[in-house]
Amino acid sequence: MPKNTSKEQQSKPLRFVVIGAGMAGILSAIKLQEAGFTDFTIYEKADRFGGTWRENTYPGVACDVPSHLYNYSFSPNPDWTHVCSPGDEILAYFEDVAHKYSIEENTKFNTEISRIEFQDGRWHIETGQGEKDEADFIIAATGVLHHPSYPDIEGLEDFKGPLFHSARWDHSVPIEGKRVALIGTGSSAIQMTGGMVGTVSDLYLFQRTPQWVLPLPNPEIDEETKELYRTDPAAMQSAREELYNNFSDNFATAVIDANSPQLQMVEQLCKANLDTVTDPELREQLHPDYRAACKRLIMSPNFYEAIQDPSAHLITEKISRIEPNGIRTVDGKLHELDIIVLATGFRVDRFLRPIEVVGRDGVALDEVWAQRPSGYLSISIPNFPNLFMLNGPNGPVGNFSLIDVAELQFAYIMQLIDLVKQGRCQEVSVRQEAADHFEEDRVEATKNTVWVTGCRSWYLDDRGVPASWPWAFSRFREEMAKPKLEHYELVP
Ligand code: NAP
Repeated sequence: MPKNTSKEQQSKPLRFVVIGAGMAGILSAIKLQEAGFTDFTIYEKADRFGGTWRENTYPGVACDVPSHLYNYSFSPNPDWTHVCSPGDEILAYFEDVAHKYSIEENTKFNTEISRIEFQDGRWHIETGQGEKDEADFIIAATGVLHHPSYPDIEGLEDFKGPLFHSARWDHSVPIEGKRVALIGTGSSAIQMTGGMVGTVSDLYLFQRTPQWVLPLPNPEIDEETKELYRTDPAAMQSAREELYNNFSDNFATAVIDANSPQLQMVEQLCKANLDTVTDPELREQLHPDYRAACKRLIMSPNFYEAIQDPSAHLITEKISRIEPNGIRTVDGKLHELDIIVLATGFRVDRFLRPIEVVGRDGVALDEVWAQRPSGYLSISIPNFPNLFMLNGPNGPVGNFSLIDVAELQFAYIMQLIDLVKQGRCQEVSVRQEAADHFEEDRVEATKNTVWVTGCRSWYLDDRGVPASWPWAFSRFREEMAKPKLEHYELVP
C-alpha cells in the first residue's frame, strides 16, 4: 500500500495510541487534548488508572519524593496530607486528575497491546484480546519499575504459606499477629518494615546488602497550610519551586559528581542517622561498605526506629533455601514463618517489552535491544518512527520526580509531533549516528557518578554502566526545551 500523501495526512486528524494509563499515560492524554488532538486511545491492561500506584499497595507504601513536587505541575494538590503522602492518596490523586480531564472516555481498560508494527507510514496495533487498531503515533508510557523480579532461591514454590512479591500484595492475607519475612532491603522493603512493625508479631528482614538511609521526616501537613494552598495557589507554587530547586541543586548534583560537597553532605547525614542505632552489633550489621547514594538512596522517616523494635529481626546470614515452614539460612537455622514477601525489585530492562515491536522495514525492537535497551534522550529509537517513550531507557531515574521528567519529555515530543501536524514530514525518528553519539557521551559521563563507586544496584546495566542520566538536571531541562532537528530523520 502506498504511504499517505502529505495532503492526505493534513486533511485527516492525527491518531495516537498511548500505551499505559499510569502517571505518564494520563499526562499524555491531557497534553494531547490540550494541543487539540482528540483522536487518541489509551490502552491499559489493568482495570483502573494509576500504574505503579495501582500495583504497589504494600503496608507503608508512600512516595519518598515530597508530594508537592510529586504531582503534575498543572494540577497541584493543596490537600496532600503529608510531606510524603501515602500510596492510596497518590492513587486517588491520579484517578481524580484522570476524571477531571475525562480521560476515561479515551481509555480501554483490560486491554493489553501484544504487538505493534510500523507499516505503510502508520502503526498497526494488535491486542491480546484480538482487537486491531491503527495510529500515526505511539506514546509508550509503560513505566520503568513494572515487571517484578523473582529471586532465584531454591524452594520458592515449597513454602506452604502465602508468598508474594511486594508489587503483587495479596490483601486477602491478614498480617496481624503473623510472622512475616521480607526478602530484600530496597526502598520497598524499607517502607514495608516501617509499615508492618507493630502489626505483625515478628518481622524478619533478610538483608543481603545493608543500605544507607537518609532521614526524611514525614510530618502531617496542617489544616492551616492546606487552607493557604487552597486559597493562594502562588504560595503552593513557591513551595513547589523551593522543593524543585533544593532537589536540583543538592541531590541531583550529589549523585552525578562523586567528589561533590553535596555528596559529602548526604554521606554525613546518612552516617549520623546510622549512629542513632543504639546496639553496636546491629549498627555494624546495618553499616554499608560502599558510598551513600551508590545504590538508589533510601529515604525514610522511621526505618532505624522500626528495625530496633523487639519484634523486628535483622537476618544477615545468606539464605540457603525456602522450606515449607520458613527460610533456612546458610548457618543451618530455620526461621519459621507464616508469610514471605519478596521485596526483590524489578526487571528494569523491559520498558515496552514484552510487546512485540516491529519498526521500519521489519526491524524488531527485541533484536535492537537484545543486549540492553537504549534510546536517544530516553525518548526515540532509530528506525522506530513516530514512536516516543516517556521515562524510557537511561533517562533520569532513581530519586528524581518522574513526573517532572515525563512533563519535560512530553513537551519535547509535542514539538516533534508538530512537524508532522504542520506537514513538514510524515515520519520522525532519531538518526542512528545521533543516537550512537548520545550513548557514547552518556556512557563517558557516567564515569564521574557515584553509581560506579562500587556497589551492586539496579542502576547498572549488563556492562556495569549506570542506565541513567549522568548529567545535571538543568542539562536535561535544556535538552528538553527544543529538539535538535539535525539529529532526526524527517521523512516527507
Ligand atoms: P530494589 O531496590 O531493586 O531492591 C531489591 C532488594 O532485593 C535488594 O535489597 C536486593 O539485594 C534484594 N534481593 C534481590 N534478589 C535477592 C536474592 N536472590 N536474595 C536476597 N536478596 C535479594 O527493589 P525495590 O525495593 O522494590 O525498589 C526498586 C525501586 O523502586 C527503588 O529503587 C525506587 O526507585 C523505586 N521505589 C520508590 C519508592 C518511592 O517512595 N519513591 C518506594 C519504593 C520503590 P542487593 O541489594 O544485595 O542486590
